[in-house]
Amino acid sequence: MNPPFTVLIVDDEKHNRNLLTELLKVDYRLIVAKNGEQALQRAREHRPDLILLDVLMPEMDGYAVIRALKHDDDTRDIPVIFVTALDSVEDEEKGLDLGAVDYISKPFHPPIVRVRVRNHLQSVQQRRLLEQLALLDSLTGIPNRRRFNQVFEQEWRRCLRTGSPLSLIVVDVDNFKAFNDNFGHAAGDEVLRRIAMSLQKSLRRPADLVCRYGGEEFVILLPGIAMDGAKALAEASRFEIEEQYVDGETSAAPTHVTVSMGGITRVPNQTTPDLALFSEADASLYEAKRLGRNRIVWADAAPGKSPFSQQTHA
Ligand code: GH3
Ligand code: MG
Ligand code: MG
Repeated sequence: MNPPFTVLIVDDEKHNRNLLTELLKVDYRLIVAKNGEQALQRAREHRPDLILLDVLMPEMDGYAVIRALKHDDDTRDIPVIFVTALDSVEDEEKGLDLGAVDYISKPFHPPIVRVRVRNHLQSVQQRRLLEQLALLDSLTGIPNRRRFNQVFEQEWRRCLRTGSPLSLIVVDVDNFKAFNDNFGHAAGDEVLRRIAMSLQKSLRRPADLVCRYGGEEFVILLPGIAMDGAKALAEASRFEIEEQYVDGETSAAPTHVTVSMGGITRVPNQTTPDLALFSEADASLYEAKRLGRNRIVWADAAPGKSPFSQQTHA
């Protein structure tokens, strides 16, 4: 049910650390720190899902710890609950002001601590779920354009660092308006789902990505493989889609569905991701449509030369 959450317990007193450990060890993976320095180090290393933080500690107190946590991109989003003997309204206000999600006074009531920890971890889980959903296309379940743009930037930089090629392939369903007109929008949606599945299945490496870029258009990103490999993968998935019969639900006869693709392979040579890659891939796609659809056109390897290098089709 619950994913295995990790909770970091920070307290300079052994007795308190033991109390909290006994209380939570059945439900969570626990990490313990006995001073502020150790807390920061373990938070960075283990990225816990929640931190229970004592305030009064020698040298670095809990307020200094939370400030440092909030200052670091890697730890800023980890929720912090203060568990402290300080129980004035001012102390509580200060703790919450510094970004703590909750404030528990010592001596604490164990059942209350357990419930509060559980509630905050439920919020963590819900937030993560929403973050994930926001990056997926709701019709097909594959990554959406927003996710694609994130990954494109990351992979662009990685390929720039390593001097590796990056391929981008724009995929567009052929004559899809006619398909919708003939078989209905619901059948069209089913086609998009199946194409998304085919494309996803064709990916080979962990860094490969396909997204639904919008409407009946998909984009594939293939970092770190040579142009020939990218072309082969594109051709294999074009062929697989062509081979796959799709039942128009309103029709007795199964219908062929095909896609056209425009691809490009470049070795990144500038720090900002080059969006011209998209327009060049799009121009190739347009050429593939013009040449009769159900085919792939690849932009020329060297920019500035004749625009297109290769067409493949069935
Ligand atoms: P081409 O081969 O030149 O790409 O022709 P086409 O008919 O596919 O292109 P056009 O841009 O004229 O039409 C695209 C169609 O895609 C029209 C639109 O209704 C359909 N479409 C876009 N998004 C969806 C969707 O989410 N579901 C369904 N069923 N159809 C969609
Ligand atoms: Mg203390
Ligand atoms: Mg189309």
